[in-house]
Amino acid sequence: MIYLDNNATTPLCSEALEAMMPFLTECWANSSSGYRFARRARAAVDEARARVAALLDAEPAEVVFTSGGTEASNAAIQSAISLHPDRRHLITAATEHEATLRPLEALAARGYELTVLPVDSRGLISLEDLAAALRPAQTALVSLMWANNETGVVQPVAQAAALAQEAGVLFHCDAVQAAGKTPLRLSALPVHYASFSAHKFHGPKGVGALYVSGSVRFAPSALGGGQEGGRRSGTLNVPGIAGMGAAAAAALSHLEAEAGRLALLRDQFESGVLERIAGAHVHGAQAPRLPNTCSLRIDGVDAQGALLLLDNAGICVSTGSACATGSIRPSHVLTAMGLNSRQARETLRFSFSRYNTADDVARAVTELEKAVAKLRLTLAATGVT
Ligand code: PLP
Repeated sequence: MIYLDNNATTPLCSEALEAMMPFLTECWANSSSGYRFARRARAAVDEARARVAALLDAEPAEVVFTSGGTEASNAAIQSAISLHPDRRHLITAATEHEATLRPLEALAARGYELTVLPVDSRGLISLEDLAAALRPAQTALVSLMWANNETGVVQPVAQAAALAQEAGVLFHCDAVQAAGKTPLRLSALPVHYASFSAHKFHGPKGVGALYVSGSVRFAPSALGGGQEGGRRSGTLNVPGIAGMGAAAAAALSHLEAEAGRLALLRDQFESGVLERIAGAHVHGAQAPRLPNTCSLRIDGVDAQGALLLLDNAGICVSTGSACATGSIRPSHVLTAMGLNSRQARETLRFSFSRYNTADDVARAVTELEKAVAKLRLTLAATGVT
């Protein structure tokens, strides 16, 4: 099998598995307990916090472990509105992940005013639009993702966060797809909250983190036993957290070399497809992008059909975000970039990881070429367009 769906999830790295094993077997203590048996679990959590902080270029105290990216984004949004109950305006972008859009839409249904910034055909917001939308003393939060899960397009987060800061508005960044793929340097940015998920960088599923800048307050939504300094109650997922820490350390050690290697693989893939398959178009090619992601459409080729043929050839890809697979609605990300619903349904996403090789890329181009030829033949035979 050739796995090219790494924006949906990634395989667990051996470093993470090794770090998790003791806490799934002999050391199953609750990390909050007072006896010596629990100390090893507590030490593993401390180490993981430092390792995750290093990946983000943050302080360990700024890392709050969660169950994943969705919980982290929900917690950031809830914190912003709790801290500013008098502010009833929120800002986000049209291409955000559902983990941001859904909670914001739920607030809009409760009477909040929600500005959804449009994106251009490259998938980028306009900083002028953001500046015009910001309302000092009225906007509770700007939520803008670092990199898009479907296209890999990287937003101008540093400039957007600076604009929010000038207006005195909290800024949340969904950095789930960016972590481990591009340097983050949060300490140098006026980002107040940021979301992360271990399974996107070869850690385990069901564990993530919310970065809470030491410069801002945080109002918790998960109340209970007061774990994580009262910021996220609930018994800590020690094996998951240890795995996330080890995956973060491995990602950091590979970051520089992998960013260049992945961009090369992605570029080889794209030039192979564009040379060999007529009517192929890469989305977001003119924008800054993650090095590992290629979203493309092929004229007249149903992406679902291509996905099935690639699957038969042992290649795993996606037709958009994993959450949207099987949904009959075209991707909101692609339609926000100006694609019509037919073009959105002609779109496939290939996302690479440090476990992919140049051979994988060559096989993927060949199998995609075969799949497209077969689908076009069928189309021509049936006359269905
Ligand atoms: N944000 C983005 C950009 C994502 O790609 C995902 C996962 O698909 C999430 C948030 C949600 O993360 P999790 O699966 O950890 O809840």
